[in-house]
Amino acid sequence: MSEAKVTRATFDQVMVPCYMPPDVIPVRGEGSRLWDQEDREYIDLAGGIAVNALGHRHPALIKALMEQADKLWHLSNAYTNEPALLLAKRLTELTFAEQVFFCNSGAEANEAAFKLARKYAWDHHGGDIGKHEIISFKGSFHGRTLFTVSVGGQTKYRIGYEPVPAGITHLPYNDIASLESAISERTCAVVVEPILGEGGIIPADPAFLHAARNLCDQYKALLIFDEVQTGAGRTGALYAYMNSGVIPDILTSAKGLGGGFPIGAMLTTRRIAASFGFGSHGTTYGGNPLACAVSGAIIDILDDVDLMAEVKRKSDLIVSELHSLNQRHALFSDIRGRGMLIGAQLAHHWQGQARRLLDAARDQGLMVLMAGPDVIRLTPSLIIPDNDIHEAMTRLDRAMNQLISEGPES
Ligand SMILES: *Cc1c(COP(=O)(O)O)cnc(C)c1O
Repeated sequence: MSEAKVTRATFDQVMVPCYMPPDVIPVRGEGSRLWDQEDREYIDLAGGIAVNALGHRHPALIKALMEQADKLWHLSNAYTNEPALLLAKRLTELTFAEQVFFCNSGAEANEAAFKLARKYAWDHHGGDIGKHEIISFKGSFHGRTLFTVSVGGQTKYRIGYEPVPAGITHLPYNDIASLESAISERTCAVVVEPILGEGGIIPADPAFLHAARNLCDQYKALLIFDEVQTGAGRTGALYAYMNSGVIPDILTSAKGLGGGFPIGAMLTTRRIAASFGFGSHGTTYGGNPLACAVSGAIIDILDDVDLMAEVKRKSDLIVSELHSLNQRHALFSDIRGRGMLIGAQLAHHWQGQARRLLDAARDQGLMVLMAGPDVIRLTPSLIIPDNDIHEAMTRLDRAMNQLISEGPES
């Protein structure tokens, strides 16, 4: 295959049209910078979508991948392998969890979590009381398989795919009263993102998470934290639950866990894991040596209090620079988030126009994300250099100027 013979136009010819990429095609990266086919340079505050936790081409990850690539790629789960066992040991040492199920994505980790919650209820409470209901929250995102879009709280991802699995209720996020009235003996699980990611970078109230924990205990339901976006150091803790004072029964992780190499994991206790006995669930690629070797190298780097403190300092730096930009432009009504998961809510006149700012930023050599039509989302590398932050803010300033000079769309 020869280089540069493919362009954005090729996409429309040969790719299923479920994505709409811009005209630029990035071809290489280094740290928090990217270069496209025309060798234009960008600062990357997207990091995939909160995936490249250590930026591009991190030497320790390249080393881990290359060394494993030269040893053993794949065995299937008919055999176990050293990188998977070492990673599972590390994850269980560092979290509440005692056992781990590996898969390849966030959706698969959640699929496993929801299936396990139903199976656990069935094992312990029998099928007769119908303890199979799952409570989740409006605006939440849990993946794109049929079960995970059904549990997810965004109707638009379900339309046209019905009938969807039954027994799922969507409640307002951060609303303790509605959770109190909806939960029952029939609830097998409550699933919550500690910070709504795709749904607008909205942190959970600590009181809401505590209430969810207490209600789950009262009704013998499992509390699942979807940490696919908030995990792997993103918020300045290895997992966001660690700063919430609430311990879930099941935790799902992906995105940053692989730093760009596909991996997902479901973490739980031994007692709950027992409901996934031999033959009850599985995957061909899950826990493959390549992914686990890379992820092991990431976890080794993230298990560092100084690095986590740096994430918080860099976060404060970005947030304060955003505030000072906004003092001049008044484009945002709110700037919020934790660590390297930051959202800027567009002010009233600019509602629905996040895409325009995203496009203007790219024109200025800056990659950012949206979290819904009204929120600009920044999920940079956890180790982005301060210089790149300053330069990114200069470029964002230009993009904001450009947008303002064009004026809001009515
Ligand atoms: C991205 C995301 C998922 C889905 O992960 P995939 O790897 O795309 O399947 C699930 N939950 C949350 C909170 C996410 O941000």
